[in-house]
Amino acid sequence: MNAILPVFSCSDDFIVKPLARQPLWIVIMKKVIQLIAILCWCSVAAAHNHDKEKGFDIKITDLGSRIFELRTDRSGNVAVLIGEDGVFMVDTKMEHLVELIDDAQKKLSDNREVNLILNTHFHRDHVRGNAYFKRRGAVIMAHPNVRHYLENPKALKMLGRDAPSFTPEYYPTIDVTDDTSIKMNGQSIELYHTPNAHTNSDLFVVFKEANVIHGGDLVFNRRFPFIDIDNGGTVAGYIAGIKKIIEVANADTKIIAGHGPIATIVDLEASIRMLSETHKIIKAFIEKGLPLEAIKALNPLSRYAEKWGWAFISAERMVTTHYYDITGMLE
Ligand SMILES: [Zn+2]
Repeated sequence: MNAILPVFSCSDDFIVKPLARQPLWIVIMKKVIQLIAILCWCSVAAAHNHDKEKGFDIKITDLGSRIFELRTDRSGNVAVLIGEDGVFMVDTKMEHLVELIDDAQKKLSDNREVNLILNTHFHRDHVRGNAYFKRRGAVIMAHPNVRHYLENPKALKMLGRDAPSFTPEYYPTIDVTDDTSIKMNGQSIELYHTPNAHTNSDLFVVFKEANVIHGGDLVFNRRFPFIDIDNGGTVAGYIAGIKKIIEVANADTKIIAGHGPIATIVDLEASIRMLSETHKIIKAFIEKGLPLEAIKALNPLSRYAEKWGWAFISAERMVTTHYYDITGMLE
């Protein structure tokens, strides 16, 4: 049961609809129904977790050129590129999903082991499978700051959560940056570091010939993003990171999101608009001298909640993100 509870990650993929302006009895009934649904879901999911054959559904999307997205309903989205040179994987999910991900890629790769892995950043729903694949011989690459954050975990004050714990078996073994060029299975694989964006350890991945990008957690498609202010994330850097993806993409590029469905640059442009607008709204309240709790009480992002809100990042948490980004009060 523990394995499927919503522990910290940049996932928890539920869309939450706002309950504003409804009679109290409707709100209470909806809460009760939600609670029953969650309890049912948890018991079903726990049963699945003990039975791999009936386990979490993994949705496989063929993006062409032997590139596949492997997606579950939570945890970071994985990509694999399969070919004669071996199996290249982007991100490794949470531990309780890693065998299922490996089984899925083995079905696609004719039972080959994963050779090379890139972690897009250090959050645990993208790196907790590292130890499993390392034991099977995979080499793991990441921006040098991934290792730094794994070795020096910090409490997530913005979320009120303790520091996660990572042992060396999860650490990447090769540092890579924008200068790294990878040629594999007919693809030129380009890496782009976007400083102080989702964290300060982000790389996004471009499969050039295939015109496919894995955006890591610079892309929370159609939902409020988690911006990890405690670990170097900033709203301006996040927007700059999305702009960098748009710059190297075109209208036909398939963009694998860290969380959410496959995106296009139209989705990314919508995220930039939402982030810019919501940032401006919260900044105006801060300039009037309002403290965080007073701003939250006004629910100033309510009109964005239906389209962008979800269980992990509600409109209120988006207010908190902008507040700490603007005031720097977490430092
Ligand atoms: Zn993340």
